[in-house]
Amino acid sequence: MFGTSWRVGRIIGIEVRVDSSWAVIALLITYSMYLRASIVYPDLSGAGAVGIAILSAVLFFGSVLVHELAHALVSQARGIRVQDITLFLFGGATRARVESRGPGDEFLIAAVGPLTSGILAALFGTIAGLGGDVLSRPLAGTLGYLAWTNLLLAGFNLVPGFPLDGGRLLRSAIWKATGSFNRATRIASLAGQGVGWLLVAAGVAWLLAGDLAGGIWFAFIGWFLVQAARASYQELQLRDMLRGVEAEDVMAGNLLRIPPDLSLQDAVDDYFMRYDHSAFPVDEQGRTIGLLTLRGVRRVPREQWPSRRVRDFMVPLGDQVVVAPDARMDAVLGKLEDGEAGRVLVVQDGEVVGIITPTDLTRWLRRWRALDTRAR
Ligand SMILES: [Zn+2]
Repeated sequence: MFGTSWRVGRIIGIEVRVDSSWAVIALLITYSMYLRASIVYPDLSGAGAVGIAILSAVLFFGSVLVHELAHALVSQARGIRVQDITLFLFGGATRARVESRGPGDEFLIAAVGPLTSGILAALFGTIAGLGGDVLSRPLAGTLGYLAWTNLLLAGFNLVPGFPLDGGRLLRSAIWKATGSFNRATRIASLAGQGVGWLLVAAGVAWLLAGDLAGGIWFAFIGWFLVQAARASYQELQLRDMLRGVEAEDVMAGNLLRIPPDLSLQDAVDDYFMRYDHSAFPVDEQGRTIGLLTLRGVRRVPREQWPSRRVRDFMVPLGDQVVVAPDARMDAVLGKLEDGEAGRVLVVQDGEVVGIITPTDLTRWLRRWRALDTRAR
C-alpha cells in the first residue's frame, strides 16, 4: 500500500513486514537517540552512548510493534483475520478486513492501540521512577524518555484522521451513526487529509520561524498522512469496484503459448517484441510446463540467445502465485500486492488460462469506468 516492504518474521502467526521508509527512520531515530544521550549524559563514554541509543531504538520499535500486535490480537479475538503488520514511518499498520464486521468491532480494534501505548508509557514511567536508585542515571533517563515517547505515540495516533487510530474511531462513530461504511471511510479519509495538510502548514510555519529540523519533520509527517489517507480511500474504492468480479473477468486471456524448444532469440523476436506481455506460458503437447518471463530472458547474455532454448530458462509453475478462474478479485488483489513477481496466474485443470498483472487490472478499471453508467 505504501511502497516496497520486506518480510522480517512472524509473531503469534502474524506476518510482520517493514516498509522501506522504516529503514531510514530507524537510522535517524538511533542517531538522534545517540546525540541525545551524548548531550544529556556528558560523562557517558562513546560506547556507552551508542549502547543507550541502540537500547532506546530497540525499545521504541518494540513499543510500536506491541501497539500493532494489540490491534492484531483484538482483531483475531473478534474473528477478523489479520493479513499482516507493516511497520512504517510513524508507526505501523495492521491490515485486517474490518468492513465485513460492524462499527463496534472497528472501535474496539482501533481503541486498543493508543490504550496499549498509554499502558506502555505508564510501565516505562513507573520503572524509571521506582528503579531510580538501582538503575544508572542514563538508563533510568532513557526509560523515562520512552514513557514520554509512548505517550506521544498514543496522542498522535488519536488524531482523528484516517488511517490513524483516531481516524478509525471517527470512522466507526460515523459508520454507527449513518450505517454506511463507505461514507464513513470517505469522511474519515478527508479528515485525515485535512489533518495532514494542517501538519504540513504547521511545519512550513515552523520552518519559516527558523526551526529547520522540526519544520521539515512536521511537514514530512503531514505529507505522509495526506498520502496515506488518500491511498486508503482509493484502495477502498478499488475493492468496492472489484466486488463480485472474478479473476477470469480481469485476466488477459487467449494467451499465446511458446513451444519449449524455441530459441530465446525467436522467443524475443516473435513474442516479447511483438506483443505487450511480460510473460508467456510454455506449452508442450497441450500442457503448460512453465512460464517464460522477460526478467528470465534478461538474465541470459544477449549473444547466447540464438543458441539457448526456452525450456532451460522458463520458471516452473510451482513457483508462481496461482488462482482459479472463479477466484474473487478482491482476494486476488491481495495476492497481487503481496507477491514479489507482480503477477498472478489463472489456472484451470493444470493449464494456464490467463495472467493478471497490475497493467491488466488498470486496463480493466479504465474500461469499467468508461462503461459505468450508474449514477454516482
Ligand atoms: Zn494503532
